[in-house]
Amino acid sequence: DARIVLLNRELADELGLDADALASDDGAALLAGMSAPEDARPIAQAYAGHQFGGFSPRLGDGRALLLGELIDRRGQRRDLHLKGSGRTPFSRGGDGKAVLGPVLREYLIGEAMHALGVPTTRALAVVTTGERVVRAGGPKPGAILARVASSHLRIGTFEFLSARRDHERVRQLVDYAIRRHDPHLMDAEDPALELLKAVRGRQAKLVAQWMGVGFIHGVMNTDNTTISGETIDYGPCAFMDGFDPETVFSSIDHHGRYAYGNQPSILNWNLARLAEALLPVVKAPDQETAIEIATAEVEAFGAIFLREWEQVMCAKLGLSEVRDGDGRLAGDLLDLMAADTVDFTTTFRALAEALRGGRSALEALFAGSDPIDAWYTRWTARLEASGDEPAARADAMDRVNPVYIPRNHLVEEALDAAEEELDLEPARRIHAVLAEPFTRRSGLDRYAEAAPTDFGPYVTYCGT
Ligand code: AMP
Ligand code: MG
Repeated sequence: DARIVLLNRELADELGLDADALASDDGAALLAGMSAPEDARPIAQAYAGHQFGGFSPRLGDGRALLLGELIDRRGQRRDLHLKGSGRTPFSRGGDGKAVLGPVLREYLIGEAMHALGVPTTRALAVVTTGERVVRAGGPKPGAILARVASSHLRIGTFEFLSARRDHERVRQLVDYAIRRHDPHLMDAEDPALELLKAVRGRQAKLVAQWMGVGFIHGVMNTDNTTISGETIDYGPCAFMDGFDPETVFSSIDHHGRYAYGNQPSILNWNLARLAEALLPVVKAPDQETAIEIATAEVEAFGAIFLREWEQVMCAKLGLSEVRDGDGRLAGDLLDLMAADTVDFTTTFRALAEALRGGRSALEALFAGSDPIDAWYTRWTARLEASGDEPAARADAMDRVNPVYIPRNHLVEEALDAAEEELDLEPARRIHAVLAEPFTRRSGLDRYAEAAPTDFGPYVTYCGT
């Protein structure tokens, strides 16, 4: 009993698909995996992965199906993929299904990330199946997410072939990935090493952007780390309210491996796993030299990430270029925020307001403490040295610092309404608000506010 309950018409259009046709019964059957387009040959993809540090040689699409590829209106090749469409050869003990709450979370958070300018897979549709799917806590409405990605290649895809010592196929996969994501590297001297560097650059940028919006992925396993540099597999993810680098929301992350503040070093760790998988095909006279070459590239991540992070933070602080000491300036602000678990998102809007002459929001957040005054003086001195008009700077800040993020308590409310009463209205409203995260609109204060103090501690689940 497939029904489309959310359809991303704008994305359908971008893909060159007819949204009205997709919204029909035939479209629902297609997006539920009950029928395939005539010329499509759907597949489940194999991959391996390091999960919480431990290696699983065979994961793969256990509840997902790659329907096929499309060339979008800009000429880009995109995967159309169904998540929750039933069992595959990779399902292991699982039922191959997904339930409405987690599917909606992926839709809402993924689309919010897109609107925030963060590279991400996109959500095309949520389809309910009419089935009740058994999960911890009782049966839940079954659902399928139709998602779109620039590819579904993961670090784990390389690990899969490399662990089987299928070096010829690792080489083929490197060529394929380069053709798909980095065609300018096609004639590179050492394609595997160049691919490693390209992934390093994209992922450094991506994680810096996550840090800049307070996003916590929650399951940064190597099978959830893309070659494209898009955020993928929104499971127990969430945005931080009060700033605390140790924040963890996932129910299964007992040791805080994937805490907010650990995300850059985990990415570095994941890149080391990619490097290992590529070792046999890195150009070098012997394995020892290959290891040395690859290690140097992995170790360069820290400095590359730092540059990306400083750029993100400088933009958030109204600084158009990074100068010496700016990283420290940003870091000191974060320390002050952490000391009082000040709301991450509202702080940066309050700073812009302060530049316009309204200090009350900032004072309310930091309880008018002396340290924030001292920091503010340093910051404004640095801004003055850069020479722009304060009002122009404040406007530039407002273009990168959102008013609206997917607030945990509101997402939870929307997921509950959907799962318990099949009421999708709260989800649709959140989606509409988050489509324009940088523009404050009247009547939407509720969506801009931090969770009420009696909400939490917030715990998220994978929904697997
Ligand atoms: P995820 O945490 O969603 O990225 O999934 C990790 C692995 O578990 C992937 O290989 C999934 O395909 C698999 N998986 C998750 N849920 C199910 C399920 N209900 N049935 C079969 N496989 C699943
Ligand atoms: Mg995954």
